[in-house]
Formats: sequence, C-alpha cells, structure tokens
Amino acid sequence: MTKKRLGPAKVDRTFRPHHMLEWTMATCVVLGMLLLFIFVRPQQPESLASADAAQAMLDFRENMPSASTANRIGQVTVGAAAADVLEVLGASAEDAEAAVDALRRTGLVDRKRMRPGTALTAYFDESTLQDDTSRLIAVSIKPNARHTLLATRQADDSFFVSVLTARLVTSHRRAAGRIETTLPAALVGAGGTPAHAAALAALFPDDPALSTGGQKGERYDAVFEVAEDERGNFIENGDLVFAAFNGVTSHGSWYRYTPGDSGRTEFFGSNGVAAHPFLTRFPIGRVAINSGFGQRYHPLTGQLHLHTGIDFRAPAGTPIQAAGDGIVTFAGFSEGYGRHIRIRHKRGYETLYAHMSGFAGLAAGATVNSGDVLGYVGDTGSATGAHLHYEIRRNGRYVNPMTLELPSGRNLASEPEEFAAFLRQKAMIDTLRGGTVSDMLTASNFLPVTQPTSP
Ligand SMILES: [Zn+2]
Repeated sequence: MTKKRLGPAKVDRTFRPHHMLEWTMATCVVLGMLLLFIFVRPQQPESLASADAAQAMLDFRENMPSASTANRIGQVTVGAAAADVLEVLGASAEDAEAAVDALRRTGLVDRKRMRPGTALTAYFDESTLQDDTSRLIAVSIKPNARHTLLATRQADDSFFVSVLTARLVTSHRRAAGRIETTLPAALVGAGGTPAHAAALAALFPDDPALSTGGQKGERYDAVFEVAEDERGNFIENGDLVFAAFNGVTSHGSWYRYTPGDSGRTEFFGSNGVAAHPFLTRFPIGRVAINSGFGQRYHPLTGQLHLHTGIDFRAPAGTPIQAAGDGIVTFAGFSEGYGRHIRIRHKRGYETLYAHMSGFAGLAAGATVNSGDVLGYVGDTGSATGAHLHYEIRRNGRYVNPMTLELPSGRNLASEPEEFAAFLRQKAMIDTLRGGTVSDMLTASNFLPVTQPTSP
C-alpha cells in the first residue's frame, strides 16, 4: 500500500486551532480509506465495478467514528459530469467545482469528462444536511482498478487530494483450447483481452485469417500476465508472455524474453531465435542520411512540415532494393514524390521509395522479395539533388524507419549466459502451462492442447 499526496494549487500550511475539527475529520477520512483498502476484499474481478466500490465506501464510515459526516453516492453519466453529480447530491456549485478541479489535477481522471459509470461518494457535514446546500467535506472516487482518490476540504476551503495506489503483484493466467468462434472471443472468455489476441496474431504474420479471428478448430495456447493486489485479487491484465498456435496455415510457439544486455523485449522461439526482421531500414545500404524523419523546414518551400521519411544521400543510378517481401501497389509518377514505388508488406506495413530516376522493369501487382532491385536513385519530383526518400507506414500511419522496433532475428543459443536465462524463463512459462492453471480450462469448449511445434 503506497500513499502519494498531491497538493492543490493552494494549500494552507498553517495549523489553526479553530480548524482542528475539519483537520481531524479529513485525517479520519484518509485513515478510513486506507483501512478500507486493506480490509475490503473483492471476491471477483467484477466486484471491482464502481457500484460495488461505492457499496464498499458505505462500510468505510464505520472506520471514522469521530467524523459526523453523512455520505451520498452518485454516478457520472453521459449527461451529468462529476461536478453536476456533486451538486445534485447537495454540494454548492463552488464546492463541487473546487473538488472536481482538485481531482483532475492528479491526472488520474479524464481532464474533460470522467468516464460515465464512475461512482463517486460525497461526504457532507451532517449538521448542514437540512440546509439548501450541504457542506461538502470530502469526495472519493475510484477512476480505475488501481487508484482511489480522496479529495478532502482544507482549512482554506480548497481540496487536498490523496491518491491511494494498490501495490500490484504480477501473476499469470493461461488460456488454451480450440477456437470455437474467434480467437479474441476465446481469450476474452478465458480472462484475456482482445489485445492479447492481437499480440498472438502478430506473432504469426503469415496467417492472414488469424488477424481477423482465426478459424474454428484451430488450437491456441496463451499465457499472459495478470496484476493482482497483495492478497491475490485481480486488478488488471498485463502483457502476453507466451503464445502457441497450431492452425491451418501456421504453427509455432513464442516466449517473451528481455535479454539483459539490450533490455529489448522480444518473442523468441523455443530454440532461442527471435523472429527475423521482415523489413530493412536501409534499402540502399548504410549510406549517409541527408535528412531524418520528423518536423523540419522544407528545403524548397521554407515551410515547417512533417518529413514523412528518411533521405539517404547517394549518387544517381544507385540501385534501390526492396526493404522486404511484398507486393508492388504503385509504380509511377507524382508531383512531390516524382517517380516512386510503393510496396505492401505483411503485418500492415507499407514502404515507399521516391525521386527514382528509373524502374527496374516493375509494375503494380508484381511480387518482390527482400533485396530485389526496384529501380535507381534520382532527383525526380520535389528534390534538390539525387537522393532516396524512403518511407515506412504501419497501418496507414507514417513511422520513423530509424526508431521502428523490428524483430531482431537474434539467436540466443550462441550466447551461453543469455541462453541459460532464456531457458529459465521458458521453463517457468512451461510450468505455468503444465498445471496450476486448470481452472482456466473449465469451460467445455477448452480442450487440452498438445505441445505445439517450434517455429
Ligand atoms: Zn525526403
């Protein structure tokens, strides 16, 4: 249990006797919240839902015997923002705004609007309940599974926010079986998320059907991290750490591992070899870069704009090679790019080669392999001199070819220390797959999975 205090813009640090009662009440509220966090144990992930959290807040009153407050529970809706809800519950508009502003300053709740359905509990001075507006003493809100915020009124009427953060412990879950409808449905049914399904599908890029849900009867086996609190209550799902697939067009198994030297997390086959890079950053070899990716002043117009690729300096006529296997989707001329070629690759990637002097006899629709010569460096289109303008897009968005994370193709088996560490991690994951997780397989559609073949 950690408690982080975030102060409001204005905090009265002087401690005056006549404010003693409010300080005591505020302290009791904070202590009560801490006790609540320690003693309230949700039984299921579902019980973390806001309605139950609100119910739990009721119990918390018992932990603050000296505070004469009354609490009222409301819920943020599409039509009613948090401040509106507080007003409906009885707070003055001024107090409601001040409390919500303080909560927003934590950065843990949406700056514009809190998520509809978020429950909040308002604590009022009991003696003011019959007044037109009740005196707001504190507001508690649970914007997500990890955090509980408590805004308490200070001596100067500003609100001070305490953030209670559950300390998380990483545990693992396994989902394995045969696809009944789709892979995401199968993983979600076993406690995973659609993101886990997407991460699994990305490990089998040659299987286009898998990225759209896979086919009935195909076998999958996934282990993913789960964040729990210190008593084993589910808080949130984490990363995929193992994925095996045995389907119509592809099969294999991948273990997530972070080599100690590079610190770069990647998936490795059971033999310790990472996926091979399917694109290169250097379609004309390691030549000098004239201009990198990002915002720059255009050399011709002088305007600041996004430079959507990398400019490689090379003499006219230098051969340009395909950055990876793919299909030519365009080979022609346009004003800016000049003579250029676009190639569609797997995993949603596309590359573009601009300002070419000529093509190597390729047209749209042609299949190319990594390293095939596409054409030659030139200065057609908007170019100040001979260079290759090289772009990579992922799912239609420009990415920086130099910082793009591509599979390394690294072979851990040739590095004894790393390989030993990798095998320890693999053994841990295989143990998780072997037993201790049978509760994940109770649904009738989950059948035991045979040991998948290596990639
Ligand atoms: Zn360029």
